[in-house]
Amino acid sequence: MSALRTHDDTWDIATSVGATAVMVAASRAAETASADPLISDPYAKILVAGAGTGVWEALLDESLVEKVAALDPEIAGVYHHMRSYQAVRTHFFDAFFADAVRAGIRQMVILASGLDSRAYRLDWPSGTTLYEIDQPKVLAYKEQTLAAAGVTPALERRAVAIDLRQDWPAALRAAGFDPAVPTAWLAEGLLMYLPAEGQDGLFEQITALSAPGSRIAAESAGNHRSDERRQQVQERFKKIAATIGLAQTVDLQDLMYHDDDRAPVGAWLDGHGWQATSQRSTTEMRRLNRWADVPTGSDEDAFSEFVTAVRN
Ligand code: SAM
Repeated sequence: MSALRTHDDTWDIATSVGATAVMVAASRAAETASADPLISDPYAKILVAGAGTGVWEALLDESLVEKVAALDPEIAGVYHHMRSYQAVRTHFFDAFFADAVRAGIRQMVILASGLDSRAYRLDWPSGTTLYEIDQPKVLAYKEQTLAAAGVTPALERRAVAIDLRQDWPAALRAAGFDPAVPTAWLAEGLLMYLPAEGQDGLFEQITALSAPGSRIAAESAGNHRSDERRQQVQERFKKIAATIGLAQTVDLQDLMYHDDDRAPVGAWLDGHGWQATSQRSTTEMRRLNRWADVPTGSDEDAFSEFVTAVRN
């Protein structure tokens, strides 16, 4: 169940689930601008700049970062941690695509691509096609903003503007997708915005479109944080936003489906013709020295897994 969602809701980049794409892009922009960045996403800042106002501004403006730290050091730690998590996540899935390219795959699909700029910023061999699927207004915003900045894709990019709860396989095929060749799929920052049965349905559709040798990478939905802890943190975010004059945005957790019966991604894939490897994102954060500054009180069990799999 999600407090704010319906089965056919829509959004643009500034509202509801659309705004979550701005939040994660702001983290990538902040990481890119930092002293020792783990990733480089030179387009994240441009994409965030045109997407309205929100609590993510406190990630990007150094004077706001300092104000938050003075008002509530623990919330400053939450912001910092968010940036580190997104950096590690981006780093992990960038490597997934580099591996897929090395394995000879030339057909990529990014599900719920949001403000992901991999089509524009990664090195792709010639002959590679990348399909991006997201809601129409989200994709239109990204294309228009990057085109206005003179940024062009680094490969054949095809936008498939459709909701993933509709018949997206038909739209993907209509855009030229070939199910007979191996594909590399990515579901990053998506599964938590689908109900449990929607997640199963999505993986069934992907499996049906995946030739042997296809690969998939996914960020699991993560576990439910305690309501009490969520409310406490949200109240403190609200207080800070009001004090330093940031626009209020919805609590991301209210947009997610916290379904306790959600299938574990790796186990589901293993049971449906894939060979999966799962690892806790916290392990990857530690490996990359990005865990040390986790704010006290965070529930480590709530963190997502990063799952990759190869189709038998
Ligand atoms: N994958 C991108 C990234 O990591 O930067 C965006 C992640 S953002 C947190 C969530 C994205 O999922 C948004 O762009 C939103 O529009 C998209 N999304 C969520 N549910 C969707 C659905 N049912 N159909 C299409 N897109 C969806």
